[in-house]
Amino acid sequence: MSENFYQQTTTAPPTAFDVSLRPPAFSEFIGQEKVKDRLLLMLEAAKRRGDVLDHVLLSGPPGLGKTTLANLISKAAGTQLHTTSGPQIEKAGDLAGILTNIQKGDILFIDEIHRLHPAIEEYLYPAMEDFRLDIIIDSGPSARSIQINLPRFTLVGATTRSGMLTAPLRSRFGLVNRLDYYTHDELASIIERSAGLLDVPIERSGAIEVASRARGTPRVANALLRWVRDYAQVRGEGHIDGSIADAALAMIEIDSQGLDEMDKRLLEVLIYKFNGGPVGLNSLAVAVGEDAATIEEVHEPFLIMQGYLMRTPRGRMAMPTAYEKIGAPKPPPRPDDPQPDLF
Ligand code: ADP
Repeated sequence: MSENFYQQTTTAPPTAFDVSLRPPAFSEFIGQEKVKDRLLLMLEAAKRRGDVLDHVLLSGPPGLGKTTLANLISKAAGTQLHTTSGPQIEKAGDLAGILTNIQKGDILFIDEIHRLHPAIEEYLYPAMEDFRLDIIIDSGPSARSIQINLPRFTLVGATTRSGMLTAPLRSRFGLVNRLDYYTHDELASIIERSAGLLDVPIERSGAIEVASRARGTPRVANALLRWVRDYAQVRGEGHIDGSIADAALAMIEIDSQGLDEMDKRLLEVLIYKFNGGPVGLNSLAVAVGEDAATIEEVHEPFLIMQGYLMRTPRGRMAMPTAYEKIGAPKPPPRPDDPQPDLF
């Protein structure tokens, strides 16, 4: 079960469980203080001017709150939210359909905006800049371009891969925000709030135990909490403390830092099969039998943050702590070891 646990919880669409725990107002959105401050300031300024909010880009690993923030922005602005995602917009007509349904001040949320087709991106530029859509109808000699004026709207884009965004698209956002992983304290507060909504009694020690294994990610924290709640109801007396949380998480093989089976397998393969690297992402993906994008977006950022893995121009490399983690003998230092790529 644990092998796919994070994948399910970090890449699957939000479940009913997720939705009910989504903070309904900025005041209940815990952490990401800088991002929140900037957004609130922008909202206030737009309100004072009676103007429409500038376009906003939110980037960061899955499950950190990008969709939640888009919802909060639209609530705070008092306008409607229209949600879509990069891969869902296949043709210019799809984009035209969405944009012509928008009212002044509405928020268009495009998730996974880095996956927009380049041709669609071209249509988006004038829409973002001049609130105008230039579409070509017909083809061949009768092809002609028609212009549609759009109401002023706000585009909120979310991406797990901000590096993949083209420069022209990125430059059209008035505010670019990167969401960071949450601290254990912030996650513990999120878990306490969620437990309250789910009506499960939880002690701070239980919340901290779950938080420390939640990979800095609220969505993972909520998913682990759900599991711990089930465990507490069946094996305990329904309330969650540190030792119940510990036993529950041990049962699904989530270790004390939140590494799951796939994380550990990645490190093992990197060390034993590829001699610690450097090795390309695709070879690593084939060797562990996992999708390259999932490794890159879900597993790697956390392993890098924890200091187990390094991305270099020549490929992925295991760091000394990775050898310790899986109990492998440390390799002798190599003179040609590449330096970290400080993207
Ligand atoms: P993303 O769009 O970045 O993948 P979401 O906005 O869907 O992430 O967040 C996943 C879940 O985590 C939400 O349903 C919400 O319950 C919870 N969540 C995210 N950020 C916070 C936060 N700062 N405070 C409380 N809950 C949060």
